[in-house]
Amino acid sequence: MRPSFLPKLVNGDLFDPVVYVRVLNERKALMFDCGHIHGLANREILQVESIFISHPHMDHFVGLDHVLRIILHRQMPLNVFGPEGITDKVLAKLHAYTWNLTQTYALEIIIHEILPDLIVVTRTRASNGFEPESRESVDRKNPLIAVSSRYSVEAVILDHNIPCLGFVLKEPFHINIRPDMLELHGFVTGPWLGRFKELILAGKLDTLVNVKTVMGERKFRVSELMDALVLINAGQKIAYFTDLRYSPANLESMQEIADGCDILFIETFYLHELKDDAFARAHLTAYQAGEFARKLKARQIIPMHISPRYHHRVEEILNEVRRPG
Ligand SMILES: [Zn+2]
Ligand SMILES: [Zn+2]
Repeated sequence: MRPSFLPKLVNGDLFDPVVYVRVLNERKALMFDCGHIHGLANREILQVESIFISHPHMDHFVGLDHVLRIILHRQMPLNVFGPEGITDKVLAKLHAYTWNLTQTYALEIIIHEILPDLIVVTRTRASNGFEPESRESVDRKNPLIAVSSRYSVEAVILDHNIPCLGFVLKEPFHINIRPDMLELHGFVTGPWLGRFKELILAGKLDTLVNVKTVMGERKFRVSELMDALVLINAGQKIAYFTDLRYSPANLESMQEIADGCDILFIETFYLHELKDDAFARAHLTAYQAGEFARKLKARQIIPMHISPRYHHRVEEILNEVRRPG
């Protein structure tokens, strides 16, 4: 199955945890946390549609200035999602600079503050010196915080001695085109297949599509083509959890959104020998991260955010994650 999301751990497992996700076939990307990001090319940063900040500790937030520097002349707005207090933190960053030369710039930054029962959305534009222009509150009855035709993002609030968001990125469903059926019907692959998939995702099943066939071009309804060519599978599910206490409440929240995930990015900050320190500072040990991964039935675990004190003992961290419970 060809994936729709291409995630990469920008700084590897040792340094600031940043997961950059390319949404394939769209010139768009998402970013989970935004610490040090010099490993990303400018063209990659320019495609970032939304940034999801777990919490505003510096190692998760310092890169927002760098993103802003790169995208300042961009047309596409930037969405920033974060926990309680994120609106003031983002505005404080924006207001640290002088904006007397940006009146003609198109860039808009939309801040989404995720509270237990509410999302507070604040809009701000470069042309207005990033002064908050409007603020609205939307009820939050489920974990969903962002949705497009290609993906949705869900968030839960975890305990890191401060509120810290955990995220899951989901594909609505995965569309597989059967090559054997293409051949059987005499269809020839081409750009029409991309358009066909987009129409399925948009739910436009009655639309006619021009299909290239060995007999020339012919028109078919999306629904007809679906019956003839398509297998639908459950979509890809990528979870991102960092900076959280080992607690039943945190595990329960993670299970609410990440059960059976395909890829789990999770912090492995300490070795279990420092589990008391980990608990006090509301971080996970590698052993605890492994236990959570098993309870979530994650198919693949990607450890990250290893404390600098263990950078010469990485093998032990990795062994601890894999150690069966
Ligand atoms: Zn951290
Ligand atoms: Zn932290």
